Amino acid sequence: MELFRQRIEDLKAEITKHNKAYYEQDNPTISDFEYDELFRELKKLEELYPEYATADSPTQKVGSDISDKFKEIKHKYRLYSLDNSNNIDDLKHWYERIKKEYPNETLKVVSELKIDGLACALSYINGNLVTGATRGDGVVGEVITENIKQIKNIPQKLKNPINIEVRGEVYMPVSSFEKLNEIQRENGGKEFANPRNAAAGSLRQDNPEITGKRDLKFFAYAAVFPDDNSPKTHYEILQLLKNEGFTVNENAKLHSEIKTVEDYCKYWEFERQKLDYATDGIVVKINDVDKQIELGYTARAPKWATAFKFPPEEIETELLDIELSLGKTGALTPVAILSPVQLAGTTVKRASLHNFEEIERLGINIGDRVIIKKAAEIIPKVIRKANPDEQNGYYLPPKFCPCCGTELVKSEGEVVLYCPNSDGCPAQIKGKIEFWCSKDGMDIDGLGESIVDDAVEKGIISDVADIYNLTEQDLMKLDLIKEKSAQNLLSSINETKKRPLKRFLTSLSIKLVGKETAELISNELLTLEKVKNATKEELTAIDGVGDKVADSVFEFFHNEKNLKLIEKLASFGVIPKNAESDKVSDKFKGMTFVITGTLSKPRTDFENIIKSMGGKVSSSVSKKTSYVLCGENPGSKFDKATSLGVIILSEQNFMELVENA
Ligand code: NAD
Repeated sequence: MELFRQRIEDLKAEITKHNKAYYEQDNPTISDFEYDELFRELKKLEELYPEYATADSPTQKVGSDISDKFKEIKHKYRLYSLDNSNNIDDLKHWYERIKKEYPNETLKVVSELKIDGLACALSYINGNLVTGATRGDGVVGEVITENIKQIKNIPQKLKNPINIEVRGEVYMPVSSFEKLNEIQRENGGKEFANPRNAAAGSLRQDNPEITGKRDLKFFAYAAVFPDDNSPKTHYEILQLLKNEGFTVNENAKLHSEIKTVEDYCKYWEFERQKLDYATDGIVVKINDVDKQIELGYTARAPKWATAFKFPPEEIETELLDIELSLGKTGALTPVAILSPVQLAGTTVKRASLHNFEEIERLGINIGDRVIIKKAAEIIPKVIRKANPDEQNGYYLPPKFCPCCGTELVKSEGEVVLYCPNSDGCPAQIKGKIEFWCSKDGMDIDGLGESIVDDAVEKGIISDVADIYNLTEQDLMKLDLIKEKSAQNLLSSINETKKRPLKRFLTSLSIKLVGKETAELISNELLTLEKVKNATKEELTAIDGVGDKVADSVFEFFHNEKNLKLIEKLASFGVIPKNAESDKVSDKFKGMTFVITGTLSKPRTDFENIIKSMGGKVSSSVSKKTSYVLCGENPGSKFDKATSLGVIILSEQNFMELVENA
């Protein structure tokens, strides 16, 4: 039982984390399919063990995208999510269950494509658009009226002077999403994971003008009638919406039995690839509005509607070539170049192959037929060979760098091949400068990949420091630069000279040092001088920095060429801002704490105290643990600490320890 309670807790925490990434940051890290699997597991466990179900569970609420960017609005009429399944049998059971309640009637339903965008509520008074809002958590949404007005197929005035609240989906056509990502790529901006995220990111802009420049569209699929003059059926509501000037998806269909709905789902599972908008399933709704009212809602979804979600797609195509892509740190990644195919709403031409051991494992070679799948519905990857019996060998890793011809190396225990010629290899030089300028690097506005490549090829810059020595005349030699943009570019370069230390460290492209690690090092060592002079021991003492990272940082700052580059940057005024310590003391330096049980305040409060005094917090007890802070109802960590003889502190003991410090 304890096992299930723990699993429920873990699932709740994991789903909440993904909700945040998906709704608030428009940046999902797992596929909708994987997310739905977690969600269904939680729902099932909560049904089996209702004693562990809590009101704050994600299964009891509508996932929310509310940020502090917009004014909030309490919806007059609640908005809901939809229950879903990826199994046709579940859909049939849902229909049969409702049919039992109406044994002597034909139970009509409407099937519609489930558009993958974001739900909005548009309120019209006397036929005039007065408010546009996001769904938010269903109770409260964000006011985005000005942004909504930028969407060309949303009427601001209806044909008739009626009062109505229209619900529908704002989406971005797949072709526009691909174009937008191309532009983002060229400008060194962040690419959107899928059309849904692009639509959400474009609609929820502070500046409605930006929304206006993005190709957003709207499908209306429901309405609420404040004057109680609703048509009798959902199908008629769709007709009314069309007559009032909305775009209603033309594929909605009325059915008198579930069999034809099943056919509809099967048909669209494949046919959807031909559409220029992303759909992730089929929504089925009871047609009769009175029955909808009788059936009602759960805390999260209507009982009179459900969604059938399409399974993740796999598709066969030809592996035309294997491109060797060289990253900024010299890592060589094989990329599959594919005969273009439509998959989950986008045209796929390239797919990740990760590394050469993966190619060996898959046993694939150029010319093979392969099966690709959208892992995380985001990055397509090759998952297997289509005809495993066909003998064509597998693609062998190269011995020399495809760019500069240097012999490739592989570090012990690593699968990645590297080109060690970090200062002479043109691909690495470009990669490092491109990254330095990018949003994740020093964020130099206007200095995108194409301009950097042109500048390197014309010999105008050869390292990141040269950027700060550029003149207007230099810039005018570049293809994409005009006089005005040269001036703007020089001033945006200038603005980035005093970026914080963590950004500076990230931008240097030190092997194994990304944004998070750079932040850990910066928070601990505070100044560039200290980072330069840190010993390997000092580096590994930083929580989250392991031996390999410490070696890499140490080697970077003991390489003559890197030190010269830092000096050259400083000579042009590029000097990072020191970090500020949030440390109060070093009293807990070298000590590791484990926290268990329920405390009077959230755990993070205690973790912050420990870290601010130089201590580490670990999730498991070992002989190395200094103290276990133990609240009420402690778990197995308490038993382990007792058996290992680790000191156990009550909350009061802990606070005394802190105060005595
Ligand atoms: P949902 O997308 O599964 O279904 C409800 C929504 O469907 C409605 O709010 C509406 O916006 C939309 N919809 C589209 N066409 C419709 C139509 N014709 N009629 C009615 N509604 C229509 O539910 P949700 O609560 O918006 O989001 C949950 C889903 O989001 C999950 O099932 C998952 O797929 C995805 N998600 C993914 C992650 C991740 O990390 N990948 C995280 C959170 C949520």
